[in-house]
Amino acid sequence: MKLARRGFLRVIGGGLATPALSGGAAWSQSSGSSPPADAFAAYEPNPDFTYVPGLTPLKAALRPYRKKTYRLEKQVLSGGKLVIHNYGHGGAGITMSWGCAQEVADILMAQYPNPAGKPVAVLGAGVMGLTAATWLTEKLRMQVTVYSKHLIPHTTSSIAGGQFAASKVAFQASEKDKFVRILRRSHKEHGLRGSAYGVSPRDNYSLIELPSFAEVPPDLVPRTQLYRLPFSPMNRSGWKYATLLVEPPIFLTKLQQELQKNGVQFVYQEFFDEDQVRALAPDIIINCAGAGSDAIWPDPDLTPIKGQLVWLPAQPRLQYLFSGSGYVFPRADCVVIGGTEETSYTDDDPDPQRCAALVQHLKDVFDGVTTIAPRWMIQDE
Ligand SMILES: Cc1cc2nc3c(=O)[nH]c(=O)nc-3n(C[C@H](O)[C@H](O)[C@H](O)COP(=O)(O)OP(=O)(O)OC[C@H]3O[C@@H](n4cnc5c(N)ncnc54)[C@H](O)[C@@H]3O)c2cc1C
Repeated sequence: MKLARRGFLRVIGGGLATPALSGGAAWSQSSGSSPPADAFAAYEPNPDFTYVPGLTPLKAALRPYRKKTYRLEKQVLSGGKLVIHNYGHGGAGITMSWGCAQEVADILMAQYPNPAGKPVAVLGAGVMGLTAATWLTEKLRMQVTVYSKHLIPHTTSSIAGGQFAASKVAFQASEKDKFVRILRRSHKEHGLRGSAYGVSPRDNYSLIELPSFAEVPPDLVPRTQLYRLPFSPMNRSGWKYATLLVEPPIFLTKLQQELQKNGVQFVYQEFFDEDQVRALAPDIIINCAGAGSDAIWPDPDLTPIKGQLVWLPAQPRLQYLFSGSGYVFPRADCVVIGGTEETSYTDDDPDPQRCAALVQHLKDVFDGVTTIAPRWMIQDE
């Protein structure tokens, strides 16, 4: 983006903004004068990238990416059972979860206007299943049973970084309003649930304008172009996004515990076809099986994208996020180093060499040695 004038801060969609808060000088624009005095103030601490091969935990999982659009719609099975599909949210499932749970409730209530007390089966115990089950239990007072082949921490949702951003998720241009409504509903509910659910406001610094926020309304996630990022030696120009961090270990554990407290049963069961679903007692089924949905209802549009992560030890002094050339998400349990997008893989095994290279790359970025993500991070191989 080209900047023309100095003298005020540019906040996309936020109007003429308040001065930059601590960390990061906003790019001032007017007639050729120097950057403001605070341009060099308030550096954020750099991460400690110490990585011990064989000891530092490595993780990998498949983002349930679905070509054209995530799937949020109803299907009536032969025999009359109502299935509401809720999967395919790519790299944005944590972000979209509450909004999708509310859309599920809307679809359900269009057919069953008074669902209180009715039995409903939720397939899957990742973030989509847990939030849908929570909404149906807490708000619609339904009698929910969750069926799943794995529970936390053995779900993709447990591997997610946890940033609120619309990353690697497709939707139809004609459905943009619905997508934005989902983001709004989700953002509001994450905010209401707050720290007990692992939600906290975080500034995400980036060297580039991030595509994952392009479709996120700026009143939800305000953004500021910075004259310099508040780091040293990585002090190039960049962007700051005032977003949310939703820490999956806290969030998912809290959801599951509250459901159990509210009497929701969790049943270990793997489904291989629709007949097994039809055999369930409830007449209403919410399909939140993520990438595993393909085993029950084959879906050629599901093309998962693998992501690999390194979980460095927790560093509580780091209270920001960084992304755009790989990412660093400091959380209470660890510092998540990630950012690979590998489209030709179906396994969820971490590759130690690639993970080591990922940590080295992020270290190089913070050391000011490079800004560009290596090809292996984001290409088909
Ligand atoms: C590396 C990485 C980083 C990410 N970072 C972020 C982020 O920062 N922010 C964000 O918003 N999103 C992020 N995501 C995306 C997010 O993790 C997913 O969109 C989300 O977890 C999808 O949730 P889900 O409930 O649909 O799927 P899952 O978590 O995979 O849950 C599916 C559930 O269905 C069950 N299941 C599957 N198949 C069957 C079957 N046949 N029978 C019975 N049960 C079945 C599973 O056992 C599981 O319980 C990231 C993903 C990855 C991989």
